[in-house]
Amino acid sequence: MPPEPGQRAGAQEPSRCGVVALVGAPNAGKSTLVNRLVGTKVAIVSPRAQTTRRRLTGIAMVGAAQLLLVDTPGIFAPRRRLDRAMLAEASEGVADADILLLVVDAATGLTDEVEAVVGRLAAAPAAGQRPLWLVLNKVDRIARARLLPLAAELNARHPFAETFMVSALGGDGVPALGARLAAAVPEGPWLFPEDRVSDALTSLFLAELTREQLYLQLRDELPLAAAVEPERLAEREDGAIEVHQRILVERESQKAIVVGKGGARIKALGAAARREMEAAMGGRVHLFLTVKAKPGWADDRRVWRDLGLTWVD
Ligand code: GDP
Ligand code: MG
Repeated sequence: MPPEPGQRAGAQEPSRCGVVALVGAPNAGKSTLVNRLVGTKVAIVSPRAQTTRRRLTGIAMVGAAQLLLVDTPGIFAPRRRLDRAMLAEASEGVADADILLLVVDAATGLTDEVEAVVGRLAAAPAAGQRPLWLVLNKVDRIARARLLPLAAELNARHPFAETFMVSALGGDGVPALGARLAAAVPEGPWLFPEDRVSDALTSLFLAELTREQLYLQLRDELPLAAAVEPERLAEREDGAIEVHQRILVERESQKAIVVGKGGARIKALGAAARREMEAAMGGRVHLFLTVKAKPGWADDRRVWRDLGLTWVD
């Protein structure tokens, strides 16, 4: 008999799949936690705050569960237009999530920024219907005796359904968190077939490397967010990896900036991104970049969803 949808052939447990959104102040350790849960480098972990812009940044397989990890940029008071775009995106990630993890840097504790995030989450529409869990991170940086009072203080601000104490960097407590998440996400079929998870992760990761170069090389000239969409990933017979990606900008004028005079800029971008990719993949990479002006993409929720959750191979 063929397995029921949502069941793995021969498996005892039904499959589970859910979206887990990580929220918190910049530098709380959200990207590090995503990487630790997934077990491979996916999101960019950067000392620079607010570089994470993609929604889906990791897929963690824990037993029969597939956890789609959304590493939101910090929820903070929007200042510039770009910040507002990121905030809108963070809110959307929050709206779609099955479980919200508030990640707090235990070493800095209950700062004004953390208070603001907790307040915003509590005031969000549908707050209270979605589990909100507290993750005290960086426990390696604080004395044990200070952890419980901090957990109590935070729980006094908001009654969290669960509280975890972890070191995303060292790994302490992360397997326990992963297991609880796996048990808590809804029963249902995996969004990404098992044999595609690693390609999906690789595509997302490689897109992040290109986006980081865009940020590094063009942040002064490109006032608005540019996105990198993974299009195709293939392995050549000689073992080299062929990577096709599309850079999305808002306007033709921005496309001209990304391409540069005689294509000089995109060549430099591509060369730097390719070097990062080769270092990360440990082999040769052929990178093919195209640039597309897609007016309004940053405001189009469907495009955000596409960027986060679909790719072509
Ligand atoms: P994000 O802005 O919330 O995504 O934070 P990141 O994941 O980029 O982490 C910010 C900084 O905190 C990085 O330098 C990480 O290496 C560091 N960090 C993250 N988790 C831990 C942890 O558990 N312990 C320590 N000591 N440092 C951590
Ligand atoms: Mg981050």
